[in-house]
Amino acid sequence: MKPKILLIYTGGTIGMIRDKESDTLVPFTISALLSTIPELKTYDYIIDHTSILKPIDSSNIDVSNWAEISNIIEQQYKKYNGFVILHGTDTMAYTASALSFMLENLAKPVILTGSQIPIGARRTDAKDNLITSIEIACSNKINDVCIYFENKLYKGNRTIKTNTEDFDAFESPNYPILAEVGRNINYRNNSFKKIKKDLIVHKKLSDNVAIIKLFPGIKIQIIEKILKTVKGVVIESYGAGNAPTDRKLINLLNKMVEQNKIIINVTQCMYGKVISGEYATSKPFSNKDIIIGKDITTEAAITKLMFLLSLNLSDEEIKKQLRKNLRGEFTD
Ligand code: ASP
Repeated sequence: MKPKILLIYTGGTIGMIRDKESDTLVPFTISALLSTIPELKTYDYIIDHTSILKPIDSSNIDVSNWAEISNIIEQQYKKYNGFVILHGTDTMAYTASALSFMLENLAKPVILTGSQIPIGARRTDAKDNLITSIEIACSNKINDVCIYFENKLYKGNRTIKTNTEDFDAFESPNYPILAEVGRNINYRNNSFKKIKKDLIVHKKLSDNVAIIKLFPGIKIQIIEKILKTVKGVVIESYGAGNAPTDRKLINLLNKMVEQNKIIINVTQCMYGKVISGEYATSKPFSNKDIIIGKDITTEAAITKLMFLLSLNLSDEEIKKQLRKNLRGEFTD
């Protein structure tokens, strides 16, 4: 049986052309995109394709697009060995993180890829990224949501975009890469898990959330306004999880937790993790109901929160699940 792969086109630089009128890059169609890669015909795979209704620059992505993508995977799941999602790089780490939570009991590879230069352009990085992603999706070595970019395969919910310029645009700072590509695809980290249960797709994420990044001089009233507006907040704190030891901030966070707000403390640093109680300045987050995010990325923290808030769980259960490693999103 030939391996069957479904390419899901969502937009992004990989499939863009320059619009003459506006002189900006805009998405074009998957068939036009694939016609630029005759190499695909040389594979003994069946490569089908589809796309979301309106391909977009990934800066425009929202929960409805995630619902659309996960719906395609759910509908086509049984027919294919793996899925390759063509996606813009700007929010790829958010989509990969979101899908890792939305696709429960995933037993097949879902590989997101894109490029820094459009596929039709002379020095494009798109062909390599797409062709290798297809090979990985056929490999039977991976059953997770991953990002493949510039010779490296990353665990999706540990990845962040770190570079707007280099072809090497992503990193997974606190998790080893899953495979490195040279002459061969060298799978480094055996992350294949035996999954016996059926796939469950959670399509509707909640957007009742916000991210607050602390900075010296941030007004407590602004933090208060945001906390009052939404149910769940990811706070990007300093270093190992610190914040100003302003009494007003401590009181505010305690009050908000009492009012059933869900708060996760993550670090602004790329490497390392939140350690509660290391410094006196970790005091604002010492309330036991504030979740210590450890080394979770902001992308994974916010999408995990969006996922859990959509499940109609009690607040206690949401906090319990946030502390639990659901899809390998943090280091235990
Ligand atoms: N703005 C583009 C996008 O994210 C950038 C890219 O694809 O690299 O869709």
